[in-house]
Amino acid sequence: MVKIVEIDTEVYELNKLEDILVHIERCGRTCYKSENLISTETAVPFISGILKSGHESVIEHANVIFSMPNTDKNQRIFRMKDIRGLNVSLEFDADKKEEVIVVSGNLRALRDLARIHDIHDFLLSIGNPIFYVKNDANYSLDGVKVESVQKSKYSDLHNYLTTHSTCDVGAYKDITRHRLASFSIESTRYCNYSKGKFGSELTMIKPYNIEENSPMYDEWLKGIVAIEEAYMKMAELGAKGDQLRMLLPHSTKADMIMTANVSEWRHICSLRCHTAAHPSVRVLMCKMLDVFYEIWPSSFNDLHGKYSV
Ligand SMILES: Cc1cc2nc3c(=O)[nH]c(=O)nc-3n(C[C@H](O)[C@H](O)[C@H](O)COP(=O)(O)OP(=O)(O)OC[C@H]3O[C@@H](n4cnc5c(N)ncnc54)[C@H](O)[C@@H]3O)c2cc1C
Repeated sequence: MVKIVEIDTEVYELNKLEDILVHIERCGRTCYKSENLISTETAVPFISGILKSGHESVIEHANVIFSMPNTDKNQRIFRMKDIRGLNVSLEFDADKKEEVIVVSGNLRALRDLARIHDIHDFLLSIGNPIFYVKNDANYSLDGVKVESVQKSKYSDLHNYLTTHSTCDVGAYKDITRHRLASFSIESTRYCNYSKGKFGSELTMIKPYNIEENSPMYDEWLKGIVAIEEAYMKMAELGAKGDQLRMLLPHSTKADMIMTANVSEWRHICSLRCHTAAHPSVRVLMCKMLDVFYEIWPSSFNDLHGKYSV
């Protein structure tokens, strides 16, 4: 029997450097729907496996914010524009009462910086060898200091939010067009919904633009039930996830992890909470905006006032 659920979203908090591994594992296991395998011992082998296989997009969900003095030597960081996911700015630090260079980025960007420009200071300052790209690396900048993870006292560029959403495939197709963000999505290839683990049923997101209990809704439901029947029959005939997913419609439920900084989230909310966006995407993004506003009222106050429903 097809299950029909609502769009939902929450923020995955990351507050401490020590929690980075657990956060990455939690985000990464969404792709395989293997969250049930998480224990105190699993983060290191899971992340080692991910790094070995080159599936590095998963480590993009953890961001670290650094400060360093505004010296001639440190200013070369402004030229590293080829590193995606790295944000650099000169900011006034009210506590230090001086201008500092603020650098922030996800673990993938920090590894790319080490691989491409031989700048290892940021990985060394984090101090977890699992992320190092070589063993005998040295510091090459002046006074790099870890300020915080994900959230910081600096501008929107250096404040990041990771969300976990349950949405339909159509909505994530639209949302994944946003290029300054990182994504991990439940794989319709690796998840075989005919298996007991998934209740041997398909799960669909309620269509927000079709009125429930209307003739049009009945036709939508009839179509979905027929798809589920075909899916289960194909599975009985030995079809693998790769083959089964050819049947799945835009309404299919998927879990999505998404990380971006506040300036990109603001851009996405302004496009996707607007009435011009698809209704499912709009429901998703307005729910996210509510959550963002609760966490960071000052950064989302204007957008929340404009789009809250
Ligand atoms: C109502 C609506 C209808 C749409 N319809 C369609 C459609 O019919 N077909 C379709 O293909 N897409 C469609 N899209 C998707 C749209 O074209 C964008 O791909 C998507 O919204 C991503 O947003 P963005 O390009 O503004 O910025 P993001 O990808 O979120 O990037 C943020 C900002 O970074 C900068 N940026 C990022 N990458 C580059 C780059 N390579 N060059 C220069 N600047 C860059 C830009 O300033 C950009 O605003 C639609 C979107 C909306 C909201």
